[in-house]
Amino acid sequence: MTHLGNSAGSRDIAYHLHPYTNLKAHETTGPLVIASGKGVTVTDEAGKDYIEGVAGLWCTSLGFDEPRLVDAAIRQMRTLPFYHAFAHKSHEPAIDLAERLIALAPVPMSKVFFACSGSEANDTAVKLVWYYNNALGRPQKKKIIARQKAYHGVTVAAASLTGLPNCHRDFDLPIQGILHTDCPHYYRFGQEGESETEFATRLAGNLEALILREGPDTVAAFFAEPVMGAGGVILPPATYFEKIQAVLRKYDVLLVADEVICGYGRTGNMWGSQTYGMKPDILTSAKALTSAYLPLSAVLVSDAIYQACVAESAKIGTFGHGYTYSGHPVSCAVALETLRIYEERDIIGHVRAMAPHLQKGLRAFRDHPLVGEVRGIGLIGGVELVADKATKRPFDPALAVGAKLVSFSHQHGAILRPIGDSIGFSPPLIINEEEIETLLFRFEKSLADTA
Ligand code: PLP
Repeated sequence: MTHLGNSAGSRDIAYHLHPYTNLKAHETTGPLVIASGKGVTVTDEAGKDYIEGVAGLWCTSLGFDEPRLVDAAIRQMRTLPFYHAFAHKSHEPAIDLAERLIALAPVPMSKVFFACSGSEANDTAVKLVWYYNNALGRPQKKKIIARQKAYHGVTVAAASLTGLPNCHRDFDLPIQGILHTDCPHYYRFGQEGESETEFATRLAGNLEALILREGPDTVAAFFAEPVMGAGGVILPPATYFEKIQAVLRKYDVLLVADEVICGYGRTGNMWGSQTYGMKPDILTSAKALTSAYLPLSAVLVSDAIYQACVAESAKIGTFGHGYTYSGHPVSCAVALETLRIYEERDIIGHVRAMAPHLQKGLRAFRDHPLVGEVRGIGLIGGVELVADKATKRPFDPALAVGAKLVSFSHQHGAILRPIGDSIGFSPPLIINEEEIETLLFRFEKSLADTA
């Protein structure tokens, strides 16, 4: 890519500090500037089309030109463009959305707290866990366990929960009291001769050992994505959550399900928690809640947690947490319309009908010499590239093989996500069979270029 004179690309290099970008490399490569979108396709400033194989950042579930979402935003903008929910104020879009989300929850939930991003939702969940245990008079029960390779966001608590070195190194994270246990990736971490269920038993045993080492009366919560997304599209091994939850129950440790990617249909059910039998005490969600047309996240809490928070607030006064944009009315109006569309178009039925095409298509690459593992469920998938198929030896990270494949995919008109040497797939949920075939064909060409 060359960016000359006063082009958007050269101004981007001059002025824009990018999130999650190799900043040094960006000064030379510059950006791919996307100008517009239609259906599952986006178009760059030069007019080239790309199938968005990751729905932006696992989020634009209804594609890039859903007019009903635009109309819902405009209607709300004209009626009440902003109001807040502090100090007993409210408005109908937030009320309607909270009611709708409680009805949709995978397990009985009591209340919904709104924020703007997945990170804010997870920071809120951390604070609720702490507040809850203070309310119950056990101020020592505060430690939180997440998993290596987890992704929970980038604000200070959420980045601490995240189990990826780049999110910690040089940011002085994680903060004290946030611990990490095993990543449940059977292909990478299963031992010689160990079955998937034995692997799950071992990991639950390791979690129990960690809780016992720390002292059960100091461990408050366990955070988990149903399918780990940004850590490499890692599916839980068979029986994993069943065994993990038995340990959590034994030591009175709360489960927080981070449904920021899995929520709203991605795995073929409304919630990843339903797909994997998780019974969370707190559920965080964002992204597909508004099909990403506006920022919004929702934290669902159980009645036990809500009641404890009310009791604490009765003692100390105001519940001292909230964002200016908590429950922004325009975002809530767009979310309500998004949920209506999911229902009217039976988006979950559509995901279930399309999933075999994507999953079967991806599995067809299993025999390719560069492919170590193919994994996925619903409309999320990952293909892990390896230097040696027999030994599973990864490529030298300096070769950036995943990033190379993705830059070939751009040439072939597909946007995919490199996660180290795994390639992430998470197309808009509206994708059809023909578009899946095109996406897979463009991936095949990119893989051939990489080989
Ligand atoms: N949790 C999960 C599972 C995510 O995938 C993400 C973002 O990709 C987040 C939390 C953070 O969300 P945000 O980027 O909106 O802060």
